[in-house]
Formats: sequence, C-alpha cells, structure tokens
Amino acid sequence: MENSLRDKYEVVIGLEVHAQLKTKSKIFAPDGTEFGQEPNSETSPITLGMPGVLPVLNKEAVNMGILTGLALNCTIPPRCKFDRKQYFYPDLPKGYQISQYDEPICVGGYLEINGKKIGITRAHLEEDAGKLVHAGADGLAGSSYSLVDLNRAGTPLLEIVSEPDMRSSEEARAYMEELRNIVRYIGVCDGNLEEGSMRCDANISIMPKGSKEFGTRAEIKNVNSFSALQRAIEYEIDRQIEIVEEGGEVVQETRLWDDNSRETRSMRGKEDAHDYRYFPEPDLMPLEISREWVEEIRAKMPELPSQKRERYKGLGLSEYDAGVIVEQMNLALFFDKVLELGATPKTAVNFIMGEIAAYLKEEKLDINETKLIPENLAELITLIEKKTISNNIGKQIIIDMLKDGTSAKEIVEKKGLSQITDTSAIKEICQKVVDANPNQVAAYKGGKVQLFGFFVGQVMKETKGRANPQVVNQLLKEILG
Ligand code: ADP
Ligand code: MG
Repeated sequence: MENSLRDKYEVVIGLEVHAQLKTKSKIFAPDGTEFGQEPNSETSPITLGMPGVLPVLNKEAVNMGILTGLALNCTIPPRCKFDRKQYFYPDLPKGYQISQYDEPICVGGYLEINGKKIGITRAHLEEDAGKLVHAGADGLAGSSYSLVDLNRAGTPLLEIVSEPDMRSSEEARAYMEELRNIVRYIGVCDGNLEEGSMRCDANISIMPKGSKEFGTRAEIKNVNSFSALQRAIEYEIDRQIEIVEEGGEVVQETRLWDDNSRETRSMRGKEDAHDYRYFPEPDLMPLEISREWVEEIRAKMPELPSQKRERYKGLGLSEYDAGVIVEQMNLALFFDKVLELGATPKTAVNFIMGEIAAYLKEEKLDINETKLIPENLAELITLIEKKTISNNIGKQIIIDMLKDGTSAKEIVEKKGLSQITDTSAIKEICQKVVDANPNQVAAYKGGKVQLFGFFVGQVMKETKGRANPQVVNQLLKEILG
C-alpha cells in the first residue's frame, strides 16, 4: 500500500497471548501434560467431562500464574475466582471452559519494550481444549472425518491480555518476543509458537490520525511465528484501510491468518461476553491468595530478561550483543556459567558472538546440543589470557571443542599449539623471514610501509600462528629498522 494512504491512519493493536503453563499435571485433573503422548492417553473422567466429576485446582498452576503476574508488574488481588464460559467446543467435552472472568488472578501490569510501557490489562487462568485432527492431516487417510485427541484438554493456560497500546506491527512483535523471553526465563512456559505452547490473538483496528476514538477491531487468530504475526498485522492494516477508503465499515469479527496464502479470512462473527453466559464456577471456591503466598513466590523470581540485558551492558557488552544473547536463553545461561567460572566477559562474548554463534547457525544447533561445556570455554579463555596460546589459536580450536567436547588443554598439548613466547626463538624466525624476502625488504625500506603486515603474516605462517603477535611486531620493527 502507498505510504501516503498509510500515513492517514493510526494503527491500534492489543494482543491476547495464551501461555501453556509447564505444570506436570492438568489444571483441574491429575492427568499428565507431556507433549506428544499416545492420543487420549491422558484422559481421566474429569478431562472427559463425565457427569458428577469435580475439578480440583492445581496449586502449581496458581504459583506460575502469580509468578508471571509479578514478572509483568501486575497486582495479584487477594481474591480471584473461576467462571464457566459456555461454548460448543467439540474438543472440550464438558461443553464449557473453566476460565476467569471478572476476578482474574493478575491485573494492571505492564511490559517495557524499547523504553515504552505496554499495559497489561489482566492475566487469567483457564483450561485448554483438546485437539481435532482432521482426515488428510497427520497421516490420517480419507477425507471426511475428524478425530479428537483430548490429551491437551485441561492443560493450564494463562491468558495475558494487553491494553490496546501498540501502534505498529514491529511493536507487537517486540512485545510478543519480550513476553516469550519472560515466560521462558521464569520457567512457566516453553514459549514455543510453532508447537503452540504459546499462542497469540492479535486485535487490530485503525483510526484517522489524531482521532481519539478507536475503530472497530478485528481479531486475528492462527499466527504461529513472530514473522507470521507481523505479516498478519500488516495485511490486516491494509485490508481495513481499503475498506474505510472505499466508504465501508470494518466489522467486528474473528479472522484466521493463512500464512501460505498470506491473507486473513473471516472465521466467525465476534461473540460478545454475554454470548458466553459466564457465571461463577459452582464446583470451585473463590481463591484467596494471601500476601505471604505472593511474597513467597516473589522471593523465587529469577533474573528477568530486562535485568539480564542491563547487567550485561554493565559488563561492557554492547546493547546489540546483550540483546542477542538474552534472546537465546540457553546461550545466556551458558554465558552466565562461563562468567561464574571467572572468565573475562569481553573475551567470552567475542567467542560466543563470533565462532560459537556462527557454528550454531551453520549447524542449526542450540548451545546445549553441542559438546562444549562452560568449564571448557572458561579454561580456553584462561589459556589465552595467560598467553599460553594466542587468540587466533583459540579461535581455531573452539570448533573442535564444540564438535567433540575436548578440553582446550588437551588439544593444545596434543597438537603442540602453545604460544611461542621465547623471544630468541621468535627472533630467529623473524630474521629468517626477512632474509628470505630481500625484494620486500627493499620495497619496505623504500617507503612501502604497508608491507609490514606481510612480514608479520610470514612469521605467523612459519609458526603456525603460535608466535606472540606483540613480540613479533616488536622484533620485526627492530630488524627492519
Ligand atoms: P475478547 O475476549 O472479546 O477478545 P478481551 O478483553 O479478552 O476481549 O480482549 C480484547 C483485546 O483487544 C485486548 O487485548 C485489547 O487491548 C484489544 N482491543 C480492544 N479494543 C481494541 C481496538 N479498538 N483496537 C485494537 N485492539 C483493541
Ligand atoms: Mg479475544
């Protein structure tokens, strides 16, 4: 779309994010929650919605809800309650979902992205539905039937609802990425969009620039990657602008994003809250959360991504490096261990952002899938700092360390890589190089000073990179005069 048309409108975005909580059992039933089990193997009578069964609240799900709320600067009210949301779910046999309506577990927080606070209206606990598997998908033959797998039914979800505070698809993506970082670091959710352990509905509307009144929103479902979220929002903005420009009106509805055809299509008209006929869940008592309970959870709060980035910057990392490392939690935890072992941050970062990052990208691996352990990287860095080996040798052997888990010491001993610091030995080699290249010496002395690098290179070649570069530089200067 032309920029001039875009410029006439302001975009308003609010996100509803469902995070699957990593409890061992379901929110109201003892069934396990592990992904990828035999279909319908985690289906107690409670999950199946048999008559007369009673839900029992999983305390761990509540703990995780509180922890997330605190990480998002929310208030945890002293009391919350559960409500029934009536809906025909083919994959939730009870015919209603136990959720929280007007008294959620978390209220009124915010999350900061690039210095901007995005309000969090609320976060509430609820149960997930099961999954329909349609013929033709997942290796099912035929075409005209669907099977239901209820393993996921009853898995705890925390739905985190933002204020309509975002103004661009970039902001929405940044919010979603930071939220994913947070739930991962505090250990409540895998944050895996592709596998659906974290899901996002994007509410989007447009209004003329300068207007105070929000337009009618459409809700986009089915975005399962960060890039799809951004694409879906961009598409939706254009669609709405086109409608308004042609004199039409955006209707409130739920639309599905199709990442293959890269468009949204109408799924259903949007229900209003009264359509769900919410009422207090009669089988569960309101939940009283004491201040002691909240403080107990607060005391367990690990370092949050934003705090980690600040700490890294304090260690001399650039904003960019700090961001990249924090974005990959396992890499950040690895880095922290290397630091704990006493390694100099700057050297550790150079390895992590350089050779290690390149290797992980090339091999499509996570740091934990390599054989490198923090102890070995810390040792390598010590060897470099004690000048046992040069930085260049370090860069060469790190790949072996990633591949087969050998320690730096072992490789250095086996391959005889330790740095030559014996000045007289280096001097001999420097002299040899100078003698072997009379033409270059003449040119150098005639003013072609950039040839100095050539001599250094030759010495390094002779010593297979083992000569101490400072010593080489100094000696060559002396010899060449
Ligand atoms: P519902 O369950 O009906 O979708 P919620 O209150 O759970 O309602 O979620 C509404 C979401 O839509 C929130 O994230 C909110 O910020 C966002 N929202 C509300 N109004 C608008 C609007 N006009 N444009 C964009 N987003 C909006
Ligand atoms: Mg919604």
